[in-house]
Amino acid sequence: MALPRRCSYIGNGSDCQLSPSFIVSIESEEGEYMIAAVCQDHRDEMSTKLKNLQHKNTIPKGKTKFQEMTMIGTDCLRGRDDESATLF
Ligand SMILES: [Zn+2]
Repeated sequence: MALPRRCSYIGNGSDCQLSPSFIVSIESEEGEYMIAAVCQDHRDEMSTKLKNLQHKNTIPKGKTKFQEMTMIGTDCLRGRDDESATLF
């Protein structure tokens, strides 16, 4: 799965346009699933949303993990001119 270039959180009918800061994955008995990426601002909202989705069995049950994306080369994320032009 390719890393998303934007936050996966969708709230109030609109997509978040920020670059993601955390990889969201679920640690279940069968393994770890990477399911989304979120920005700093939506970390808590995403956590709440995932609990609801797990409650409805939409996504696998397990511990949700937020891993900082600084672990993954930021150069790769910054590489595209079109994106950086809008950010700075
Ligand atoms: Zn966001």
